Amino acid sequence: MIPNLPFRNRARFTPAIAVVGAAAAALILAATTACTRVDRGIGSSPTDRTEMTTTIPPTSTSAPSTTTPTTLPPLPPVPPLPKGPSSPIVPVDGLAPLIDHIDTTDPVIFLTIDDGMVRDPRVPAFLIENNIPATLFLNEGPVRSDPAYFARVASAGGSINSHTRSHPDLRKVSADTQRREICGMFDVISEMGLARGHIFRSPYGVQNATTQRVAAQCGAMAVLRWRVALNDGMVQFQQGQKFRPGDIVLSHFRDDLYDNLVELVRKAKEDGVVIAPLDAYILPPSR
Ligand SMILES: [Zn+2]
Repeated sequence: MIPNLPFRNRARFTPAIAVVGAAAAALILAATTACTRVDRGIGSSPTDRTEMTTTIPPTSTSAPSTTTPTTLPPLPPVPPLPKGPSSPIVPVDGLAPLIDHIDTTDPVIFLTIDDGMVRDPRVPAFLIENNIPATLFLNEGPVRSDPAYFARVASAGGSINSHTRSHPDLRKVSADTQRREICGMFDVISEMGLARGHIFRSPYGVQNATTQRVAAQCGAMAVLRWRVALNDGMVQFQQGQKFRPGDIVLSHFRDDLYDNLVELVRKAKEDGVVIAPLDAYILPPSR
């Protein structure tokens, strides 16, 4: 049967695993009052089984030279292996790229959850039960208050990333302040013993070129936006009414997150996409 692997990296991710998670339940989303405006912006899977041919070992009554190759009955058809992003997502000219989706043909979407002010105990239980990876973008206060909660939320293959320490509008502060906010939050994540990721998201989804430069200097491979949002138990698309491959989904740690996750899972199943680990598509700098 399919192993229950955490989605820690692309090498260990197969869509078949994600299908189990996505199909098993219903799903997703939400936001915090800390992000009162732009943060609410709206914006099928493979297996590695192959045809198997095996050799029956000689029996005690057979001569060793008469080994007979035998083809086993064919396995049911499975989708192709995920192809990953069409090109690596890396800083260019010192700037972490600003992206709102992953350019891929894989039938995958990505769940992100921001801030951390409201911590519903049903959320980590739901994500773990359904094996759903979540990429978190957190601020300092919540992480210091309850690091164990976020470790549980991300335990089904997610990662914990910088969303700045104090959630400022980065366009209105100096480069040095941006550095303290962005790099400083990555440092807090490490200090608290959490699984530090390598992606950055700006508060309110707003930034400038300095943000992209500083984020790259802080080890971020991308500055993440989104093109689907979860609010009030609804999936809100910036374009169309269905998930598209590579969609990045924005949600928040708010009191509607559980309901949003349930709806996300339902809609993902309806649209034939699975929730994949973002780390499998935006690789860390060391790889
Ligand atoms: Zn935020």
